[in-house]
Amino acid sequence: MRDTIMRRAVITGGAGFLGSHLCERLLAEGCRVVCVDNLITGKLANLAHLRDNEHFEFIEHDVSQPFEVAGEVDYVLHFASPASPIDYLELPIQTLKVGSLGTHNTLGLARAKSARYLLASTSEVYGDPLIHPQPESYWGNVNPVGPRGVYDEAKRFAEAMAMAYHRYHGLEVRIVCIFNTYGPRMRPRDGRVVPAFIQQSLTGEPLTVFGDGNQTRSFCYVDDLVEGIYRLLKSDESDPVNIGNPYEMTIREFAEEVLRLTGAKSELTFHPLPVDDPKTRQPDITRAREILGWEPKVALADGLAKTVDYFKGLLAASA
Ligand code: NAD
Ligand code: UDP
Repeated sequence: MRDTIMRRAVITGGAGFLGSHLCERLLAEGCRVVCVDNLITGKLANLAHLRDNEHFEFIEHDVSQPFEVAGEVDYVLHFASPASPIDYLELPIQTLKVGSLGTHNTLGLARAKSARYLLASTSEVYGDPLIHPQPESYWGNVNPVGPRGVYDEAKRFAEAMAMAYHRYHGLEVRIVCIFNTYGPRMRPRDGRVVPAFIQQSLTGEPLTVFGDGNQTRSFCYVDDLVEGIYRLLKSDESDPVNIGNPYEMTIREFAEEVLRLTGAKSELTFHPLPVDDPKTRQPDITRAREILGWEPKVALADGLAKTVDYFKGLLAASA
């Protein structure tokens, strides 16, 4: 990495939910940012407020295809991938390609530029976990040939590939294992439970609970996640680090919380549980606490209130 004041970061998937928040954060930290995205699940509206920033650049490109970025690069953050179960079930081949070929291409870019590489991995690498909560040392319980395997195995391959570049080429690698994160700029109908329940509450539709609603998740607000990722990027840690909020609840409890916050009177309807839907999930964040001095700060009610406001704004704009 160069020893200059203004660093330059390439962020793939920067037009998506998390990527757009990361673009914003790195610009605020004084970096120049090049966002590379093919807009398959992201949208330019997420970046509208950055487009006039002279330090921001957007390149429309599918990172599963080889690409070059002219000039110096200090950081490559690989966030491109369909991320909601509905998206990756609709885009299975693209998901496998961006996790494998896209990871290879972005690692190649980082190596060519002597840049530090940060991979967006996921709690899905632990599959339907048999250890609870999940520490980074857990190898997981993934069905490679089930429908979710396209995402889980692509991310597991991506982690293996990043570590191979680290060990064989000496590339500086950071791997963040992201647990369910929510906030403004999620698509109202991307199928993930947070936007689904909020949108349904705001439009008076029933809340679609999958299974009996006793499966658990632990939800992290996007600002907390971005802080953890930024600290990891700056750290010396090359092993994976979980970033997520350990506050765990059942999906049924989560539905009740969304109804309470929105004041909606929607009923709960029950639908079949998707194949291989993990029954429990909670991050063990000991490593993030010890190495990064990080832990989440935003309470669920506060993060959800901001997310509800965002979705209300979208509904008002479309009315
Ligand atoms: P998102 O769908 O909002 O963003 C993904 C972005 O990647 C989109 O802008 C999309 O257009 C882009 N993209 C996809 N394939 C591409 C390709 N081949 N070339 C270029 N761009 C491509 O999803 P998100 O929630 O922001 O997730 C971002 C990353 O974080 C993903 O890698 C995902 O696996 C990871 N992650 C997210 C969560 C979460 O809770 N949000 C949890 C675990 C991991
Ligand atoms: N879920 C649900 N109703 C929905 C969407 C999701 O009950 O409309 C459940 C889903 O089955 C899972 C949990 O909510 O158990 C979280 O799903 P999400 O798609 O947000 O993320 P996942 O953690 O499964 O990747």
